[in-house]
Amino acid sequence: MQVYLNGAYLDATMATISPDDRGFLFADGLYEVFLAYDGRILLGEPHAARMRAGLVALQIDTSPADQLLPVADRLLELNQLRQGPALIYAQVTRGAAPRRHSFPAPGTPPTVYLRVKQFASQPAELFANGAAAITVPDTRGSRCHVKSVALLPNVLANEAAHAAGALEALFVRDGVVIEGSHSNVMAVIGDQLVTYPPCNYILTGVTRNCVLDLARALGVTVREGPIFASALADVQELFVTGTTLEVMPLVSVDGRPVADGRPGPLATRLLQEYRRLA
Ligand code: PMP
Repeated sequence: MQVYLNGAYLDATMATISPDDRGFLFADGLYEVFLAYDGRILLGEPHAARMRAGLVALQIDTSPADQLLPVADRLLELNQLRQGPALIYAQVTRGAAPRRHSFPAPGTPPTVYLRVKQFASQPAELFANGAAAITVPDTRGSRCHVKSVALLPNVLANEAAHAAGALEALFVRDGVVIEGSHSNVMAVIGDQLVTYPPCNYILTGVTRNCVLDLARALGVTVREGPIFASALADVQELFVTGTTLEVMPLVSVDGRPVADGRPGPLATRLLQEYRRLA
């Protein structure tokens, strides 16, 4: 079986990608699946157009969408799949780069992979008699409590922060700041330290829990509740916690200063206490 990988046609057993590929690390990519009958690609243009639109949305170079149909055609030829039904699988990722949420250095080439195989329709009996389905709750996008590698929304959020000259992006759901792209968020409101409660919409950070314990040990009252985005102007302190950001004071959000625009005393103290654990 010949496959296409990054400009070359090669035996499938020789096709390898880096473990640092952002598709592997972040699900930072997209794919298309389409059919060919006797070498004629079915609905090729709409598939290429959808890939192009997706690449634009993800800010990945769109040239893989231009190559999609010619490469698929060549693979059908190379694999003697010009007779009968064939299935084409195509995947493009943002490429391989040292792991960080924001985009890699400009010029990092996308990873482009295509393979083909014989297509077999579902059994004729099912088309004749019909098939069964079940219903499930739509939990897509609501399993943030799992430290899953399905991080594309986090990647795009963090890149938006970087593009704006900021360090972190704070996710707002229904008007509430719930967590960062790779951190948890805490605010000092009145005399309480407030952070979002553990639930399926946030990753309950190991750092978060540790910092809350440190705060309690300092006699601070901790409240697991909402930090309203509309009330950010009124908080005494704002900071994020995470393995890589440690305890990072936030002094501006969306270009507006937080409190007096300087790291607050609790964040500073908690960073000290946290680092003392090392
Ligand atoms: N939320 C998200 C979405 C994260 O990716 C991270 C970093 N893993 C955190 C919170 C903070 O988790 P931790 O303190 O365990 O690093």
